[in-house]
Amino acid sequence: MILISAMAVSGCSSKESTEEAEIQNAERKVFAMDTYMTIETYGNECEEAADAAVEEIKRLDELFSIGNEDSVVSKLNVNVSLEVDEETKYVIEMARRISEATDGAFDITIYPVMALWGFTREGFHVPDDEELELILPNVDYSRIVVEGNTVSLGQDQMIELGGIVKGYTSDRVMEIFADYDIISGSVSLGGNVQVYKEKPDGTLWNCAIVDPNDPETRSVFMGKVSVSDCAVITSGAYERYFKDDEGNIYHHIIDPQTGYPAESGLISVSIVSPSGIVADGLSTACYVMGLEKAEEYWKTSEFDFEMILMDENGDVYITEGLEDSFKTNYTINVIRKN
Ligand code: ADP
Ligand code: MG
Repeated sequence: MILISAMAVSGCSSKESTEEAEIQNAERKVFAMDTYMTIETYGNECEEAADAAVEEIKRLDELFSIGNEDSVVSKLNVNVSLEVDEETKYVIEMARRISEATDGAFDITIYPVMALWGFTREGFHVPDDEELELILPNVDYSRIVVEGNTVSLGQDQMIELGGIVKGYTSDRVMEIFADYDIISGSVSLGGNVQVYKEKPDGTLWNCAIVDPNDPETRSVFMGKVSVSDCAVITSGAYERYFKDDEGNIYHHIIDPQTGYPAESGLISVSIVSPSGIVADGLSTACYVMGLEKAEEYWKTSEFDFEMILMDENGDVYITEGLEDSFKTNYTINVIRKN
């Protein structure tokens, strides 16, 4: 059984009101990066902005997809060393920065492990220890070298950007919205949402977070966070997983230490940040880290972000910056810096 973000997430909602009636708006739906995406724009050039955003998403999907053998990532994996464009260099360097910052909880050299589990193609497989022991030593971000525009991988290394690319994409969509001078907009990529400015009526966007205890319907929410100019990006085991014959569940967020799906005690991690790429990388990393390490990390991190965490007991933890903006029916524990 497999579940790949098979439904559009109504991450944000905006109500039409009479005052807004004159503001033009456009909406697009697109399937890319293995997920359904929705774009919403408001303003005079809303149609052009929405079309440009769709084109950009398709371009980035082609550029970074491991399923496309002409993508820069596939070429790098084959050639080991490759001269890349500025954009690819930026994404790989950000990935490395996030890896360093999270002590390797995030690691794009995870690819051979993802492939061994069968997450990169059809046909899942539960590896045995010997199989994992053979490839796990190659999972090591510190062996990626960037010199000028040349990226080089270590021996037997391969990368994939699935843990970061959607966040980069939503950052790019925000830049396109700015280019077209739209007054308000949002993009939802599976469970990941990024919003541009405020809603057209000047109020904050409400970004809903899927309840990991009821992910199938996507209409039951764990809570919602009110934001403007912000990414709200969630990692959850429910996004992609398979079951073996005994009913054990294996999901797609891998702990680089063990090579196994992360069993950190957390079942949902949402990161709220002005940067999509940071939010995406950190959502994956904090999922791997678990509550205590994620909490410690948040207190000292160089990055600007807040978190909403749920553990397997159904307890919800938020960082103090979200105290006024996160609403839920669950009991909240607030994580404070001191
Ligand atoms: P989603 O893709 O559902 O939004 P994530 O942002 O958590 O979820 O990314 C999960 C994806 O990241 C996996 O499908 C895989 O491509 C990649 N990945 C899995 N584990 C790691 C890891 N420890 N570090 C970096 N990337 C990872
Ligand atoms: Mg991520």
